[in-house]
Amino acid sequence: MAFVAALVVTVLVIGANFAQFKTLEQTLGAQVREDARAWAHHIPDLVPDAERLATTGTASTTQLATLTDEINDHGGTGMLFFNGNGILLVSAGRNTWSGHPEWAARMQSLARQVLATGQSRLDVFATGWNEAETVFVGGAFVPILDGFGNAQGVVGVLLDRSVAARTFYDAFVRLSAILSIVFTIALALISSGFILVRRQADQSRQQANYLARHDQLTGLLNRDSFRASVEASKRAGILSCEKAAVLLFDIDNFKAVNDTEGQAVGDAVLRHVGQAISICLGPSDIGARFGGDEFVVICHASCINAADALAERIRTAIARPVDTGKRTIQIRASCGICMGAQCGAGIDEGLQHADLALSQAKFDGRNTSRTFTPELESRVNRRIKIRDAVRNGLRNGLFSLNFQPLIRCDTRLCVGFEALLRLTSADGEKLAPDEFIPVAEAEGLIEHIGQWALGTATAEAANWPEHLYVSVNMSVRQFDKENLVSIVSETLSRTGFDPHRLELEVTESLLMKNSESVGRQLAALRTLGVSIAMDDFGTGYSSLGYLWKYGFDKLKVDRSFVIGLDADAAKGREIIDTIVVLAHRLDMTVTVEGIETELQAELISELACDQMQGFLFGRPMPAADLPAFILGNAARTHAPPTSERHGARCLATGQARHPGRRRTPPARC
Ligand code: C2E
Ligand code: CA
Ligand code: CA
Repeated sequence: MAFVAALVVTVLVIGANFAQFKTLEQTLGAQVREDARAWAHHIPDLVPDAERLATTGTASTTQLATLTDEINDHGGTGMLFFNGNGILLVSAGRNTWSGHPEWAARMQSLARQVLATGQSRLDVFATGWNEAETVFVGGAFVPILDGFGNAQGVVGVLLDRSVAARTFYDAFVRLSAILSIVFTIALALISSGFILVRRQADQSRQQANYLARHDQLTGLLNRDSFRASVEASKRAGILSCEKAAVLLFDIDNFKAVNDTEGQAVGDAVLRHVGQAISICLGPSDIGARFGGDEFVVICHASCINAADALAERIRTAIARPVDTGKRTIQIRASCGICMGAQCGAGIDEGLQHADLALSQAKFDGRNTSRTFTPELESRVNRRIKIRDAVRNGLRNGLFSLNFQPLIRCDTRLCVGFEALLRLTSADGEKLAPDEFIPVAEAEGLIEHIGQWALGTATAEAANWPEHLYVSVNMSVRQFDKENLVSIVSETLSRTGFDPHRLELEVTESLLMKNSESVGRQLAALRTLGVSIAMDDFGTGYSSLGYLWKYGFDKLKVDRSFVIGLDADAAKGREIIDTIVVLAHRLDMTVTVEGIETELQAELISELACDQMQGFLFGRPMPAADLPAFILGNAARTHAPPTSERHGARCLATGQARHPGRRRTPPARC
């Protein structure tokens, strides 16, 4: 490009100089020819008897003197006389042409033309401009006419303008050099300006093209160009569906990082992930950021192991510390993998399946990878349905509580109710808490739900007869933030509910945390007057150490023990009896869950258990059904259904007003 521009400039400069030179040369030539002609016309008049001179060819002394004077006066070079046949007869002055034989021939020819036409002829005789001694002579050849107007001969004059020509030439060369330089500089400036503008335009175009194809933050491809690149790779035979895998990455808890650390840190994290992906990719692999914290890789992987290995390499690179400027943080990522064979119709289905696998990875606690299988699809879809129902339930207040009666073993009198969550999905399916509570926990929503359940249960129980307590289930997650005690105490103050009528059920998984924080919170709750029950006792680790360390008010024996009773009554009774003795020794009451038959109830009652719970006495029911149930229970047990009498009866049976906590030796059944 630059070469072409230089060539163009050179040609233009040479052309301009040439044209200028030719114009000046012609002007100079015309001038000298005109001068020569004017002078030549006078010669026949000035030279006495010029006709004779032309005829005889012999100049008299007077003629020669006149001619010499003339030549000197006009700065002429020479003067020539030709006879009527065009033969040179006389020449005066300097024979400038003597060194140029071709000039003599030219002059002779001109003289003959004058004789033939009777018209004057003008010409310029010059050596080349490049010679050191430039000669520039103007020549005019005019006829010598007789009295009848016939040409008798030809007089030619030669005017020497060599000095003027040299001066002109030198000036031209200087001027031309200056002009050439100026012209060249101007053209160079214009050309480089043009080139610069072109280059900038090209760069802008390339940049715009790059931006249109890439994610600005990470430099990876964006969604559209990812698709185009995959298609191009497939067409070029670099990528084949059967031997490829789609990897979908999601940064764990990125929203929290963005919200707590600010957007600049969020951007640094995204750049870090982009870099981690880029360095792990092979030459035929394609990486992209689809927006947010969603990253996609399509890679050459003939088997699941190869895809897994790449996913782990990328996750390890992502887990390297990120320097955010202010401090160093560490992030993790989850990954969903879909092998080419499972991509079905193409990349879109592959992405969908990888997304399902990613959801499974998140459900399984994040910071891991999962691979799509057809079985996984239904599992994940179910999980997604539950998650959406939980979110929707929370947003639109669709959660409700059912209450299941807790029955005294000795009198079969209802002493309280366990509050149990209920949720119906958008399509009307009643979802089991065993299914939606783990999802709510994983989604970090259980705190809100648990808080709502506590508030609603205590508000409802505040309407019950005073001898009835309410038991509310607590998730392990509710102990995480160490604000549970204040939440419970605020709830009790708001609803005006007596803390001694509240029981909180926790599971062994909470104690597995074995943290001081849990111990502190449980102790503080008990100080408020709230009872703590260990739920589902016997299903988990069931460490006696925990029972002793944390000090519970109640053990709820899991219904699996009751099922065991059915299978082997003697052994089942022995186990439950051991638990009851142990609990009583540690000053705890015992409730056995899952009583469905009268036989089970009788067997349990014989074992000195304190309370029973199960379908035999009542299924979990809406709050609206409670008054009827309480009245029915009172009638069946022949007990007066008023609160005063229930309270009196509680005291009479040796239980505190809070029947969940055993302050005095338990009433034996
Ligand atoms: P859980 O605390 O052990 O609750 C007792 C479960 O056993 C209830 O199931 C109840 O309907 C069921 N059940 C009671 N008697 C019988 C019986 O005689 N036979 C049989 N087969 N089942 C009986 P539900 O309501 O489905 O609750 C399941 C679990 O969900 C609860 O087990 C509890 O762990 C959890 N849950 C329920 N509500 C809440 C809540 O508000 N918060 C938390 N964190 N968990 C809750
Ligand atoms: Ca429970
Ligand atoms: Ca239970």
